[in-house]
Amino acid sequence: MSVSGLCELCQTNEVVDGCDRCGRLACEVHFDEETGLCTECLQEVKGTGGEERRRDPDGPDGVDTYQF
Ligand SMILES: [Zn+2]
Ligand SMILES: [Zn+2]
Repeated sequence: MSVSGLCELCQTNEVVDGCDRCGRLACEVHFDEETGLCTECLQEVKGTGGEERRRDPDGPDGVDTYQF
């Protein structure tokens, strides 16, 4: 797949590939070939220990909002 245009992260370098996570197009500086992620996603993934958080702390717990 060939893409052309400017990196969506730096708006300067030519795009080499799209991020598998956020879909943004990144240049060779902002794209990690090992993971297929842009550097921003790479930081996020690494920052959470490589595991995406699936639990939602503010998820629905049966509390109703009364409206009178
Ligand atoms: Zn870039
Ligand atoms: Zn990304």
